[in-house]
Amino acid sequence: MLLGPSRAELDALARVLALRAVACELAGAREDADALVEAARRYAALSPQERQRAAARLRREADAGEWPAAARETLAAALRTGAGAALAGQLDLLPADLSALLQSGELDPLDVVVVHRRHGAVTAADVAAVVAATAPEAAADGAHQALRRLAAHLPALAPRRRRTPLGRAVSLFERVEVQIAALPGTLAVEALGSLRRVSPTVGDVDVLLVHPDPAGALAAAVSALAPARVHHHGRTRAVLRLEHGELGLRSCRPERAGAVRLWHTGSAAHVEGLRRLAVSQGLSLRPDGLFDGGGRLVAADSEAHIYERLGLPLIAPELRHGEDEIARAAAGRLPSLLDACDIRGDLHTHTLWSDGRDSVDAMVFAARRLGYEYVAITDHSPSAAATRVLTLDRLRQQAADVARLRTAVPGLTILHGVEVDILADGSLDLPDEVMAGLDIVLASLHESFGHSPARLLERYARAMRHPMVAVVTHPANRVPGRDEGYALDFEALFHLAAETGTAVEVDGGPGHLDLDGHLARRAVEAGATLTVDSDAHDAHRLGRQMRLGVGTARRGGVSAAHVLNTRGVEDVRAFVAAKRQRR
Ligand SMILES: [Zn+2]
Ligand SMILES: [Zn+2]
Repeated sequence: MLLGPSRAELDALARVLALRAVACELAGAREDADALVEAARRYAALSPQERQRAAARLRREADAGEWPAAARETLAAALRTGAGAALAGQLDLLPADLSALLQSGELDPLDVVVVHRRHGAVTAADVAAVVAATAPEAAADGAHQALRRLAAHLPALAPRRRRTPLGRAVSLFERVEVQIAALPGTLAVEALGSLRRVSPTVGDVDVLLVHPDPAGALAAAVSALAPARVHHHGRTRAVLRLEHGELGLRSCRPERAGAVRLWHTGSAAHVEGLRRLAVSQGLSLRPDGLFDGGGRLVAADSEAHIYERLGLPLIAPELRHGEDEIARAAAGRLPSLLDACDIRGDLHTHTLWSDGRDSVDAMVFAARRLGYEYVAITDHSPSAAATRVLTLDRLRQQAADVARLRTAVPGLTILHGVEVDILADGSLDLPDEVMAGLDIVLASLHESFGHSPARLLERYARAMRHPMVAVVTHPANRVPGRDEGYALDFEALFHLAAETGTAVEVDGGPGHLDLDGHLARRAVEAGATLTVDSDAHDAHRLGRQMRLGVGTARRGGVSAAHVLNTRGVEDVRAFVAAKRQRR
């Protein structure tokens, strides 16, 4: 290179050093981190001419000990590759969401080093939690000044934090759960954070490992998972990059598990509510337990014990929104929640007859393995945008398939149904007499044709008034994290559902999770009946997607009594028949 680096490039090297300091700090290389922090500060104070001279010496490799080794290597590499590539390279070494926050240049990486050293914060969520939990008026030492600066910028940056769709987070968790559970002495492997709260999108995939030897077990887990990169590995906390995504691990002894679970399940607002309640009772709630005024441990081994000492019943993770759940719990007004074992059948599944990936046989056997009493096979109608659909002819062939299986698989009722598209004018995509020959008809909108919310509601209303339609599936038609779905008048929709005897669905497909918990709650309050379904397109997701549907419904405080498929198949048939008799 004949021309030296530009002034902007030379300026950017201060940031390269600072980002390198973060990576070293998180990786536990404290001496290097300290050297890099000093070097970053020193470099930042250089004049443009001094930066030019330093760069020239480094490029001639004439820098005889002027910079500490870690800084010299970082600077020399950055001068070779260019500052842009060096910045990107350093950001890539960091946990993804922290990297996304630091990318903007608005946060000082050196503040992140300080907050890690003082508070152990590794990811952006950790930093945000520390900022939220630390009173700004506390002593003005370096850590607090750093926190104050971070707090000033974090709210504006929060929307840039990457979130993982729930389905992907569950897959990642299930993969590592098996590997970690197989390690000797492991007492429990559990999801924490928004994953445990069944949030439709997940911030960090954070997993708790309970073991009598937390540090040893964590080390064994890190090596068993063979990560592509170890961002951080401390005594009880590791952040890893795996082939399928980023994973946070925490480990603790069994007697600490209740407190660690509670603290790291969140939500932050819920934990803050509990912390304030503890203070009002002369106690103090911390990440390692509940303590009395003398600093003695009061309760830590189970979440229930901690809630109990605070005078509360256990609040289910799905309800820990940080809204009014603590007050409701204190008043004895928590709902009795739907449980996965209340579900007696699945009313919404797909097979190879439309866009599913498994045969009717495979879906039926999977339903039997889950202990269901019934399963409805509900493929897509002719006009659906699916890869394959049911023509009238194929619907008849499918009926023969179902009839054959009814004989082959006694003890499980197979309902032959359909997921019929609601057409542009609100009519249905199959003739009435065809639908009348089926056990159950679900109706859905899969697109909006650019229709206004009022027009969409009209289409739903016409479909709901149709005697054949027993259930309206994924009513908001949303995609979590990507598309908020229809801006419908849901109040009107739910009242119509109640009035016409049509059920509305909580769809457990991770691409739907629709209705969400809050809408499901409003549907119930409007007097509508819910179904909770998997909408599974393959057999191995039948159970998982039902669990996600149940978790989503629980987020809205839904009880078994609100859900049609917690009842026996005769009740389901009666529900369908009652709707068909309304003419
Ligand atoms: Zn659908
Ligand atoms: Zn479907």
